[in-house]
Amino acid sequence: MSNLVARLTNPNILALKPYESARRLYSGGQDWLNANESPYNNPYSIDDSRLNRYPACQPENVIEAYAAYAGLDTNQVLVTRGADEGIELLIRAFCEPQKTHIMICPPTYGMYAISAETCNVNVVSVPQTADFELDLPAMQANANNVSVVFICSPNNPTGNTVAQAQIEAALELFANRALVVVDEAYIEFAYADNWAVKLAQYPHLVVLRTLSKAFALAGLRCGFTLASKEVIDTLLKVIAPYPIAEPVAQIAAQALAPNPLKRMQQQVAEISSQREWLCTALQAFSDVEIVGDQRANFILFRTANKDALMTYLVSEGMLIRDQSKQLHLANCLRISVGTQSQNERLISLMKQFYQAEDVA
Ligand SMILES: *Cc1c(COP(=O)(O)O)cnc(C)c1O
Repeated sequence: MSNLVARLTNPNILALKPYESARRLYSGGQDWLNANESPYNNPYSIDDSRLNRYPACQPENVIEAYAAYAGLDTNQVLVTRGADEGIELLIRAFCEPQKTHIMICPPTYGMYAISAETCNVNVVSVPQTADFELDLPAMQANANNVSVVFICSPNNPTGNTVAQAQIEAALELFANRALVVVDEAYIEFAYADNWAVKLAQYPHLVVLRTLSKAFALAGLRCGFTLASKEVIDTLLKVIAPYPIAEPVAQIAAQALAPNPLKRMQQQVAEISSQREWLCTALQAFSDVEIVGDQRANFILFRTANKDALMTYLVSEGMLIRDQSKQLHLANCLRISVGTQSQNERLISLMKQFYQAEDVA
């Protein structure tokens, strides 16, 4: 980096390691089971008659459709450029750099910390217990000056849902102190555990949702923040004037219509049954230990041959995700559930690998 640019770069940005997205790490390969995307690709159409106009900041038909889907009022819904933008807006609006902090509970989704670091906001890290539960006493002990708490349920990458009693306890702990954000990116795979239905009970509860996972629209970049009207109004102050491109709004509205919603639910059922098949097949390998729970569209497992297996799969164009740098997750790899043929190919490649390693 040139001297000038290095001197001008904010210290927190100099220190920042950008999010290693699955797509940044590997651009080749044929089977992408590394980003928790849906294997389905559904058709949509675009009306190009309004592309000369700026879009609405919050397209009404999208907000209405999502509010109906989530069972909320339209003033409790914000649409954003993916759930990731919701994370950043919450930090920008509710944390003061070097003064008020976010709390995260690793192992968990990486973007909470990266968004905070980008904004020069401190990250208070309270690890989950070895059984992947919230450590509520430690959360209480570290609650000072925390203004946003991120809880991911179902959690990426462990697949666990956080027990209702634990989230209730966290909400109690932070009442009148901080926002408690429940990231429900995978909630369609565990819908009974959804917290959006409890927003009216907790003014400091925020729920994050996305069209990237169950809705099979990761390429669209469309997510939702669900919260009280007061929280949504505050986020509307910091959001960009035109965050949702016109084609994005059109496709999101189509995806939330009744028949596509049914199609989404069928695809969720199919992915869930493929996940069960994969899980059984993985358990047959003596060197594979399933880790966490499987309440989303992915499976986490531990293997003593982590590096060699990963290298072999990459050489075969089969991409999965290394999660071994995360707390409690040494030697762990994550598989996103793909199509039946992709899942079968993965298992047959793993059979070949373990036979060659002689540990099957
Ligand atoms: C994928 C994911 C997101 C990001 O969703 P986008 O809408 O694609 O930005 C947020 N949280 C978790 C836990 C995720 O796994």
